[in-house]
Amino acid sequence: MTNTPTPDDKAGGVATPKRYTMEQLSLDAGLYKFEYIKAEDHDRIVAALQAKLAEVERLVYVPGLWSCAKCKLVLVTSTLYAATGQIAANNSPQQCANGCGPMWRVTYKDESKDLLGRLESKCDEAQRLQKKLDDLDRCYGSGS
Ligand SMILES: [Zn+2]
Repeated sequence: MTNTPTPDDKAGGVATPKRYTMEQLSLDAGLYKFEYIKAEDHDRIVAALQAKLAEVERLVYVPGLWSCAKCKLVLVTSTLYAATGQIAANNSPQQCANGCGPMWRVTYKDESKDLLGRLESKCDEAQRLQKKLDDLDRCYGSGS
């Protein structure tokens, strides 16, 4: 049986701090025990949490897509690297071209809702146009 020290263990009257792995700290907020984090671990923990935040942002936001909450302007922005010719999404904060102020990043959830609305609208339009074609065929024949 292993004897893992816990915060309640006493060694010479001093509590032995339990050490958490970076995975525990970054994956389960319930395990955060800041009183047990040593000062020298601070930079490493901040870097790990910033990396986790960047990963979450990458999973949540559509790269390079911004919208204005006030005037509903949608902006797709990219950066062209002249030296290599590569193009990448520009995720730097953007200002609304209409002068409303800072724009908001668009989440995949909001983008999918917008796309679904546009798809439904286009399906309705296609059905309406097909009905008109059918009516024209009935009036003038199919041309063959
Ligand atoms: Zn605006």
